[in-house]
Amino acid sequence: MAPVRYSRRNIMSLARLAGAALWLTPEASLSAAAAAALGQDVLSPIPSWPTELRLLAPNVYAYTQASGPGVDNASLSNAGVIAGPDGLLAIDTLGPPIHAKAFKSAAQLATKQRFNRVINTHHHRDHTNGNCFFAPVEIVSSEYTRQATIDEGIPAHPYDTRPEWQTGISELKLAPPTTTLSAGATYRYGETVVEVIPAYPAHTFGDLMVYLPQQKILFAGDVAFYYVTPAGHNAHITKWIEAIDRIGRMDVDLIVPGHGPIGTRKELADTRAYLELLVAETRKRYESGMSAGRAAADIPLGRFAHWTNPERGAWNTVRLYAEFAGTLGPAQDLAAQNAAVAEYLALRR
Ligand SMILES: [Zn+2]
Repeated sequence: MAPVRYSRRNIMSLARLAGAALWLTPEASLSAAAAAALGQDVLSPIPSWPTELRLLAPNVYAYTQASGPGVDNASLSNAGVIAGPDGLLAIDTLGPPIHAKAFKSAAQLATKQRFNRVINTHHHRDHTNGNCFFAPVEIVSSEYTRQATIDEGIPAHPYDTRPEWQTGISELKLAPPTTTLSAGATYRYGETVVEVIPAYPAHTFGDLMVYLPQQKILFAGDVAFYYVTPAGHNAHITKWIEAIDRIGRMDVDLIVPGHGPIGTRKELADTRAYLELLVAETRKRYESGMSAGRAAADIPLGRFAHWTNPERGAWNTVRLYAEFAGTLGPAQDLAAQNAAVAEYLALRR
């Protein structure tokens, strides 16, 4: 395969568009050694990772957004690209316009192609707000994800706590999925087989994952969070663990998480271990009558304590309390979760 070439000017303009340092990695081998090299030692410090369009295999790219220790990971999600002879498939479209446009430009520049389809792994705005910059193309999701995308809409003042993300914000408009799947689907982009696999309920009640069986690559969406606290505000947490166990039975070498650096099963085992610890420790506190926010502050997280955005633990305990009470539904209980986060922050202060 011919190497992808970038001019310095293009790279600099992309970096400016992304509002962050941007690395483009034109070549990466998919050998087992390379896959292992991408994995981070669980005992090593939490890594930082770049904003980067990385070639994982011929015609297969991951797009990560820079984050790491001390960086608020909210809305810094990842995406993917599959290139075929007639166009590109996007796996999620990111959130703020400045992110979505940087991703789209990097992919089109690297492949000299245009997008003809989007798959939304789930409805959260950091994965779907960018849809409007890829439309008009087919946008595929689960039925739940489509409806939740419409219900959530675009707020009046999106990302208003992030002034550096406001460029182009007035261009954001709702572009919900156009095609819904009630089961899996298989697409072919040239020689590349692209399997869409339902994972729900897990991180939400509509998660889809994208699996490339020939390359043994999984775009897990937010079923996988690497080195950042899993956000379970719409989750069914015990079934999320079951979804991770199903991935464990798949033939997968590389996993692109919804948040965090590209990794392997090793980091997915960490996502699982965090969730499992949370279920066990939350149950004790639920049964003792402790409030969900206090439970989140009280649970010793061990090696997960330094993952960024620890306040998400209070979203997660609220979801688990609802699970234990038998009242869990797909929608977020925003009032309960805000109250729990406020209590968690007050106690941690
Ligand atoms: Zn999400």
